[in-house]
Amino acid sequence: VHGEATLDSGRIYNAHLTPVGGVGRVLMLQDVTHLKELNRVKSEFVAAVSHDMRTPLTSVQGYVDLLAKVGPVNKKQERFLARIETSIRSITDLIDDLLDIRRIEAELDLEMEACDLRHVIDDVVQRMRPYAEDGGQDLVWRPPVSSLWVRCNPPRIAQALENLVSNAIKYSSPGERVIVTGSEDEGHVVVSVSDEGIGIPREEQPRIFDRFYRGKSEEVAGIRGTGLGLSIVRAVVDKHGGRVWVESQPGAGSTFAFVLPALDGQI
Ligand code: ADP
Repeated sequence: VHGEATLDSGRIYNAHLTPVGGVGRVLMLQDVTHLKELNRVKSEFVAAVSHDMRTPLTSVQGYVDLLAKVGPVNKKQERFLARIETSIRSITDLIDDLLDIRRIEAELDLEMEACDLRHVIDDVVQRMRPYAEDGGQDLVWRPPVSSLWVRCNPPRIAQALENLVSNAIKYSSPGERVIVTGSEDEGHVVVSVSDEGIGIPREEQPRIFDRFYRGKSEEVAGIRGTGLGLSIVRAVVDKHGGRVWVESQPGAGSTFAFVLPALDGQI
């Protein structure tokens, strides 16, 4: 058994309890108070810097928009402006993701309510359909007949699902299918997103939910991303008392799934 324990003194310990044959049990405690504090300071620093970068970025974007309006722009200048805009979008995505992770971990905007996940999935599929069409993929969602009641924060669960669907689209080719499913089984609701895309090498699978981890292949390098999408998914699912995992075969596709406790005594 392992977990985290906060003692009366306020110090935080990682605790491991291990049975030892013929002896009894061994309890190991590692003081992680300073690591926790360091982590908090780091998160606050990142949040403050991210927040402060937003204002100048908005101003850069504003002037880029204005440039084309104040006089003629030649073809070369147009290309340069397009590159500036792409870079602004990348930094903005990164800042938004960083601020989101912090809010999720601090449990801000995480009010829970009873909700039938079929509606959340419906909304996400509607929102993502144009992106799938742009990418030439067929986005398939057949809602189950019975409801999928869970206790959740609908916007955050939608955000997690959106990240999974958006990855499925990003890492697939035209003509491939992305399938979303939802089902209830023995007190759990399972939601999955499958694609027929590039897949994930086995050795990378344990790391893809880490912050800033991006696949090492050339294919992934050519696709825009911050490496934060799956860490947002994991943070959201963790805060709901659930679990998220992946099954994938390079070249054959990936299935991402998360499970949440079902709400007893349907509404
Ligand atoms: P990003 O997509 O911005 O790189 P994520 O945290 O969403 O960041 O994903 C981390 C990595 O996991 C990606 O860089 C990619 O290598 C891999 N990955 C995630 N989803 C898929 C998918 N559906 N198919 C193939 N690889 C994926």
